Amino acid sequence: MKLYNTMSKRKEEFVPIEEGKVRMYVCGPTVYNFIHIGNARPMIIFDTVRRYFEYKGYEVNFVSNFTDVDDKIIKKANEEQVTAEEISTRYIAECKKDMEAMNVRPATTHPLATQEIPGMIAMIETLIEKGYAYEKNGTVYFRTRKFEPYGKLSHKNLDDLRSGERSLLVTGEDEKEDPLDFVLWKPKKEGEPFWTSPWSDGRPGWHIECSEMSKKYLGEQIDIHAGGEDLIFPHHENEIAQSEAANGKEFAHYWLHNGFLNIDNRKMSKSLGNFRTVREITEQYDPQVFRFFMLSAHYRSPLNFSAELMDAAKNGFERIVTAVENLKYLLGNAKEDAMTAKEQEKFAKTEAFVKEFEGAMEDDFNTADAVSAIFNLVKYANTNTDETSSKEFLEQLKGLIVKLADVLGLIVEKKEEMLDEEVESLIAERQAARKAKNFQRADEIRNELLEKGIILEDTREGVKWKRA
Ligand code: AMP
Ligand code: ZN
Repeated sequence: MKLYNTMSKRKEEFVPIEEGKVRMYVCGPTVYNFIHIGNARPMIIFDTVRRYFEYKGYEVNFVSNFTDVDDKIIKKANEEQVTAEEISTRYIAECKKDMEAMNVRPATTHPLATQEIPGMIAMIETLIEKGYAYEKNGTVYFRTRKFEPYGKLSHKNLDDLRSGERSLLVTGEDEKEDPLDFVLWKPKKEGEPFWTSPWSDGRPGWHIECSEMSKKYLGEQIDIHAGGEDLIFPHHENEIAQSEAANGKEFAHYWLHNGFLNIDNRKMSKSLGNFRTVREITEQYDPQVFRFFMLSAHYRSPLNFSAELMDAAKNGFERIVTAVENLKYLLGNAKEDAMTAKEQEKFAKTEAFVKEFEGAMEDDFNTADAVSAIFNLVKYANTNTDETSSKEFLEQLKGLIVKLADVLGLIVEKKEEMLDEEVESLIAERQAARKAKNFQRADEIRNELLEKGIILEDTREGVKWKRA
């Protein structure tokens, strides 16, 4: 499998640190509002990367943080006259709803910056001990020039940076030894949330968050670190400086960055008034169509969001859904059970589409080509099935389309909603089966319900059920 590494600026073969395992960290959003459709891009892309690794049999430890203390959160809290915690808790919950709608699976761990302060303080202490950080009037700075390889990810030359960037000196920071030094800890201002530290009552800088959380949940060395390309400098460059200075080893082996999402060919920003939230868009369009749209371009290319492109995405996505529906329709009427020899031969040919799909994904996650492979499979299924097809053949074709789409996180098979009465009657049948000691049938019913998203719970008061 080949991945494009921002560090080396080329595609490299993926070799995990630990056989069969992937340790992956993705910088998550700052939670002071509903997430916008730009934030959704890394979520969907790296969820797809994770799914592909899992499809290949890797066990993925996927960590993605929520930045829940930050100037923007504090500003919003002051505007609404509530606590910063109330703001972050609210928008984390909303973000999780959006993720679920887009079929982005929850991370293995979603650490919150505010819950990890002691670890950050310990890391800053290590950096001070090693001479990589210093304190001035309650603020702790990272001594950038002490970290030799600084600039290796963003391919920036330190001397150029230093001479050209006097502007990096913001008011109140003239106590820094060097304009390139960045903040690890800063004292509180009036009315701000704070934590006690050896240097001042205050809060950590943004970059140290990710260094600490990545270390705590994934270890000192990880396979993949990812995020949007705006994070390459200074955020990821600073993370590398902190982690490698503190731990004395290479931080991440592969650095993956997604390109930006623009809107009607313009940068999305509040001042231009063209800011769109995931919530708005998924109310207007099927969230699956939105996910399909995101996967229609290569993740490193810029992607433009427009009504026309969303319409194209809708058509493309529906081609797959319609094929699955057709197969289901044929299945409902099929007479033969088992595949014929001819069908077996035909099914064996689908291997070529699977190869095409995998080939695309293994070439730096080319989801656009992976979608084309699914289209080719869909076309093959459409032209090779009819009323005479066997159940087994139809089932296998449908299963393959659903499986490959699922690797991309696309739900292409509509779940049929079960009516309450249907559920109740199956539960009654299951109770009767158990009474008659027909446990096989009882289990069958439980599984059948589970497939339809109905979860049974055997309690002392009897059987209870809920929708998943
Ligand atoms: P933020 O909350 O701004 O730190 O962003 C969270 C994640 O979304 C980061 O990985 C950003 O790089 C990414 N991101 C923000 N805006 C965009 C955009 N317009 N297109 C693609 N990714 C973005
Ligand atoms: Zn980060």
